[in-house]
Amino acid sequence: MKQFPPSELLNSLPKQFFASLVKRVGQFIEQGCDVINLGQGNPDQPTPNHIVAKLQEAAANPENHKYSPFQGHRYLKKAAADFYEREYGVMIDPETEVAILFGGKAGLVEIPTALLNPGDTVLVPDPGYPDYWSGVALAKAEMVTMPLKEENHFLPDYAGIAPEIKDQAKLMFLNYPNNPTGAIASKEFFEETIRLANEHHICVVHDFAYGAIGFEGKKPVSFLQVNGAKEAGIEIYTLSKTYNMAGWRVGFAVGNASIIKSIELLQDHLYVSLFGAVQEAAAEALNGPQDCVKELIALYERRRNVLIDGLRSLGWNVASPEGSFFAWLKVPEGFSSEEFANLLLEKAHIMVAPGVGFGTFGEGYVRVGLLTSEDRLMEAVRRISQLEIFKK
Ligand code: PLP
Repeated sequence: MKQFPPSELLNSLPKQFFASLVKRVGQFIEQGCDVINLGQGNPDQPTPNHIVAKLQEAAANPENHKYSPFQGHRYLKKAAADFYEREYGVMIDPETEVAILFGGKAGLVEIPTALLNPGDTVLVPDPGYPDYWSGVALAKAEMVTMPLKEENHFLPDYAGIAPEIKDQAKLMFLNYPNNPTGAIASKEFFEETIRLANEHHICVVHDFAYGAIGFEGKKPVSFLQVNGAKEAGIEIYTLSKTYNMAGWRVGFAVGNASIIKSIELLQDHLYVSLFGAVQEAAAEALNGPQDCVKELIALYERRRNVLIDGLRSLGWNVASPEGSFFAWLKVPEGFSSEEFANLLLEKAHIMVAPGVGFGTFGEGYVRVGLLTSEDRLMEAVRRISQLEIFKK
């Protein structure tokens, strides 16, 4: 058959590191192995009932069968602004400071195209969420990585970035609570970020995908809670994790009006906004009953404790995540992250994500998701203990 090759732009996209891993896991499952999947980031709990009920009701309304307004319904932007005021005490103008997104991923990938010119420099965390790289590649921009090291609590060390890179940088991605390390950021860190951003005219994009998930009663700080944040950038919020709505594809960007305007302009050319019924249900999620969020965080915290206590009882000296639903575990001496992930898959039928898939500085770690029951996590600990790798 005649072939129509992909464009140079598509060929320039980063390779999907985890695709081959998922394929290998599939082979084990096909052979009948009971694989415990701790490798992916797909919330396992259902969307709360009141949100589903709102979708069902709204889906029957013929008004929602028409095209939605291009930039989304005003009531959803208002719901996002009310959510920020209630949760973070941050005042947002729904008219100019909110853009509705088809999930956080869409926004994160669009932003470099919306703001940058080919060759512009973008600072991205390493290890980090790989979709930042995709957005940078689509915009033909240049990526400079900021190492996240354990000794710096997995925060970038701005003093270590060369002055000329700081001057060149136009955009910076940050993400706390952090995927993959589970670290959270303080207000002071964001203040330092804003000082750097102002000094070098860098636009900050804070990915707050795990904003709801902080452990031991610690509520993660929103970037926008810090003075000057709206001058310096935006925050990307998603309903995927807070309300178990990953399949619904709904999120929003909040903050600096000039950035919001550019995102909306790009989106005007790419899509019409989300299905109206999804927008109604999203507004219900943001401003309806919030007990479901508290229950979800408590569930993840119980799972975290079962996993971390269990692994420590084997003599594996692992750190406990402060937020997000991931644990970032240092692999035992003598293994690379891929070797260790392979060992767990082959010998214990446990899938974890090798840290190197998130960047060079992810080497030496594996990422474990808390997205399965306490029983399955205990079973994973039991299987690891049978490998007899760790000495008490
Ligand atoms: N940012 C981070 C760090 C993530 O881990 C994810 C999802 O896994 C997202 C953004 C995107 O989430 P969504 O596109 O479902 O809103």
